[in-house]
Parts: sequence; C-alpha cells; structure tokens
Amino acid sequence: MSIIIKNATIITQNDQREIIKGDIRIDGNSISEIGEKIESNNPEYLIDATGKIAIPGLINAHTHVGMTIFRGYGEDLPLHRWLEEKIWPIEARQTAKDAGIAARLSFCEMIKSGTTSFAEMCLHDTHGIFSAANEVGMRGIISRGIMDFNHPQWIPKIMREIESSLQYSGDTLLPSVSAHAPYTCSEELLLKTKELAKRKKLKYQIHVSETRKEIFEILNKTGKYPYEYLDSIGLMDSDSIFAHGGWLTKKEMVLAASRNLNVASCPISNMKLATGGICQISELDKAGATVTLGTDGAASNNSLNMFETMKMAALLQKHHYWKADVISNQRILDFATINGAKALGVNGGSLSKGKLADIVLLERGPNMFPEHDIVANIIYAAGPQNVSDVIINGKVVMQERKILTVNEGEVIRAADELAKEILSR
Ligand SMILES: [Zn+2]
Repeated sequence: MSIIIKNATIITQNDQREIIKGDIRIDGNSISEIGEKIESNNPEYLIDATGKIAIPGLINAHTHVGMTIFRGYGEDLPLHRWLEEKIWPIEARQTAKDAGIAARLSFCEMIKSGTTSFAEMCLHDTHGIFSAANEVGMRGIISRGIMDFNHPQWIPKIMREIESSLQYSGDTLLPSVSAHAPYTCSEELLLKTKELAKRKKLKYQIHVSETRKEIFEILNKTGKYPYEYLDSIGLMDSDSIFAHGGWLTKKEMVLAASRNLNVASCPISNMKLATGGICQISELDKAGATVTLGTDGAASNNSLNMFETMKMAALLQKHHYWKADVISNQRILDFATINGAKALGVNGGSLSKGKLADIVLLERGPNMFPEHDIVANIIYAAGPQNVSDVIINGKVVMQERKILTVNEGEVIRAADELAKEILSR
C-alpha cells in the first residue's frame, strides 16, 4: 500500500525538531519520503491534508486497556483502598475474553485521541487483548501483570501462565513481561520474571514508587529505597519501564539515568488517586533517564487521552517547582513520541524517512488558533476533537473521524453491556 499525505504542516520530531509544510509518502509500513513537494506518482491512497497538522502518533507508555469497563467504578478512593476494595475483587470476576471486549473500547478511544502505540499490563491471559489490538490495528507491547503477595508456592503456576502469554504476537504487537510491583511480588518472582524477559529479549514493565506507603514497606523489608532495591537485584536497565516514580530521591533519579531506565509518568492517575508525590520528570530528564508518559488505566484516570496527559504532565511540573520554564513544551511532546518509541523498542516517534508510518492528522479547530506557538497549541489546546485521521503501520485506521477497522458503535455497545453484566456475577 502506498499513501501520500499532501499539504500538511508536519511536526517532524526529527533530530532538528523541524516543522515543515509539505508532503509525506508512505510505502508499505514506513515513511519513504518527506519534503516540501513530493511527486504523486499514483499512490493507492491520497490524503489532502490542507489546513491539517501531521504529528507522530502519540505513545502511551503505561496503561491497562482491559480495565476500561471499570471507568467510573470506585470513585473518590485512595490507591490502596481503591485496589483492595473495588478493583481487585471485580477484576477477579473478569475473563480474558472480557478484557478483549474492554480493550476494543480502549483502542477506539486511543485512536480518536491520537494514540497509536501503547504498553499494556493486564491481570488476565493476554489473548483477548492481542486479538483486539490486531483487529483494530494498534501497535503495542502487551504483558500479563502478575503478583504472588509473597506466596512462593504460587510462583511455578504464575511463571507457566506468563510463559504461555508469550506465544501471542502480531505484525505490530509484541509480548512483554511484567510483575505488578515490588510490594505485591516476592523477590523470587521479581528475579524470575526479569530473567525471563532478558532471556526472551522482551521489555519489562513494573509499577514502582507510586505511593509513600510502599516506599516505607520496601525500606522496612530491604533497607533500600525502591529504585535502589530493584537495581540491586538487576531489574533496572534500558529494557525496563518503571511506571509512576512519584516518590523518588535525588539518588534514585541519578541511578535511573545511569541505567538508561525508562520511567513512565502517569500524572493524572496519580493526582486522581491522591498519591501525593509527583514524578519529577524534569529532573529525571535532565539527569538523562528516558522519561515517557502514560495514562494508566481508565479505571483510575478516567480517560486514555494523551493530549490531556501531556498537558497535566507539564502543568504539574511548573506548579510543583514554582518555575514556568522548568520543562519545555517541546520536551513534553518528545516524551510522548520519541522517548515513548525508545521505551517500547519501536522504530518510530518521529516523522522522517525510514521510520514506521504511525501518523496522526489534526484538524485546526477554533481551539488551535491563533498559531503563535504550534507545539504549545498541541500540548495545551489540542484534544480528541482535533484528531481527524490516523495511520498505523502504513494502514489508514481512521479517516475523517471514522474508524475503518472496527464498527465503533458495536464496540461501545458490547463493552457497555459487559460493564453492567459483570457487576451481577
Ligand atoms: Zn498501572
């Protein structure tokens, strides 16, 4: 399939961060040409992007797409009560098939809000999510997020379940390995899961330093802060994505940078669950860690909108440090594109020759004028209402706001019915 996008304002996110007015040619799954004027040469698909902005597809580096049917279930609770009283009991009633139905809803929401790639941690067998992602045409890494609550006798069964989840893959999808968190998993399980990820050359995902409570639990248990502890047992490297990082010491941030760690900050979920600490992404970035952004699940966010996440990430830093220039808008966009691609191991995140064709077109609505600073408009003013067309892996998955790969109405109906039915189980 060849596609030409004509007359767009292109936020390339290339090494020079160029913004050009021009065309993009896609052949197969990657960008073959980009420039001010590309000869049309009869592409199979011609998109007139006059008046539109082309950006790299946004990358959600931490989410739980199988949990979207719990949006609005368990409101106004702090994290540990929210998990123990509401989420874990209802998740236990959910099946892998249900997670797939929820994931279809998540992917429709993601596409309509400009997200093309995601890093998933799912409590269940991941088959349902893989098939949903394949059907919708998303790019992602998908893991089973397990925990043993310090019951070592559970570990052989858990490891068999994780190994079996590694059989699933797709053109744009790879399995990944997860452990839920150092406070819900024994050291033996943490070691075994990371060893498996290393052996299979897969990305590793884990929640770390989300609440102050868990910092003291890990300190009491190990005498070390969570990043120091996880580093001492070999979990911290450039193939790991540590979600949250809301309670890091300066020493931990330097350590993260020295290990080229990927940190996925989820500012909206943290604020909503009132975790108190903030992920100091400006300091982590300056130290040299790879900062990425995630929504976390729609059960705690309550949306999967990365525009909202970019805006909140920027605002929280400025507000926290009392310093308006503590982080630039450009850097925030980098976190959601280039850095996200690095964390997920994807040859994307920028619009340049040879990169994977994951492209989002934004319509300039009234919220996008005037255009004194186009990147600021993207971070602070843009939203799903501006997303008109989405291309993932060289395939048009949404055209003029219509998702082409699945029937959006049916996806919504199925998820809504399931959300009601699961309460009566
Ligand atoms: Zn999470």
